[in-house]
Amino acid sequence: MDFTALADRSLSPDGVSRPDVLEVLRSSDDDLLPLVEAAYRVRTAHFGKKIKLNHLVNLQSGACSENCAYCSQSGVSRAPISIYPLISSEKVLQEAARAVELKASRLCLVSSGREPSSDDIERVTAMVRLVRERFPSLEICCSLGLMTEIHTARLREAGVNAYNHNVNTSPRYYTHVCSTHTYDDRCQTIRKVKESGMSTCSGVLLGMGETPEDVADMAFELRRLGADSIPVNFLIPIPGTGLEQVNRLTPRRCLRALCAFRFVNPSAELRIAGGRELHLRSLQPLGLLVANSLFIGDYLTTEGENPSDVLDMIADMGLEILGAETSSAAESPVDLSGRVRVR
Ligand code: SF4
Repeated sequence: MDFTALADRSLSPDGVSRPDVLEVLRSSDDDLLPLVEAAYRVRTAHFGKKIKLNHLVNLQSGACSENCAYCSQSGVSRAPISIYPLISSEKVLQEAARAVELKASRLCLVSSGREPSSDDIERVTAMVRLVRERFPSLEICCSLGLMTEIHTARLREAGVNAYNHNVNTSPRYYTHVCSTHTYDDRCQTIRKVKESGMSTCSGVLLGMGETPEDVADMAFELRRLGADSIPVNFLIPIPGTGLEQVNRLTPRRCLRALCAFRFVNPSAELRIAGGRELHLRSLQPLGLLVANSLFIGDYLTTEGENPSDVLDMIADMGLEILGAETSSAAESPVDLSGRVRVR
């Protein structure tokens, strides 16, 4: 494969083709480094060496009516997670302060459930207004489930910058992972977000049994939907969920998939999301050459990597955190828990 020509096509108005993407996904291990180098060229053309950090807050956990097979918060999951209703504004403000401390530029407010009630929307918009007042430089993204036009308008008025609703998998494979809502329900919400003027965040969850053709379909679907940011999650087979036995990813497969999403969506903020520690493992630094965005802190129901290790990895790769001062974590003797770090 001619990787220089591939990067050129990705950066051209025509973009890459479906056969290009399938070739990327099926490329050999010997081609992995030239592939990453080509993806890095595309990444730097749009984002330079910047990396954006995002901090997740689980506003409401568990007891969901839906049956998404990967999700520990589904009503049919037996995973032993904490179940709680919407948290208080004070707790959200603490998390916002934590996001700033972690050098995150975006706070992602996520709640379990098929869709929010009008009362939920009122409570979340009140939280958003408080965060905006106290931390004006922090972007806010909400992820609250299926949306109506009225609800997207309320969020937009309150100052929400972006809304997340993942496609998760391909249209063909969707019924294998969920039967309580449809793929089209998800796409409709993404279109409503787009129409509202909020930035559209929509991504995928890889490792559920999809084929390379499914991965290509997801990448092109997100381009068609105009996703401004694309979180790529890797399945964590949480005991008690429907996919607890599924573990099909390898670090190199994950890297190829990230490259595929980068080539198809060259100017989208590509985020390495949940499961990166488990599946990319020691190849995570190479992932940062392809993606330009990362979560820092914990995930919704699973623990994330120690934040000071994340900041070290970024500094070690010579990347710069979007919105942060020039001083690097690697040069700082204090870790984020406040303890002196012994090196
Ligand atoms: S709708 Fe969301 S919270 Fe509910 S089961 Fe699906 S992924 Fe989990």
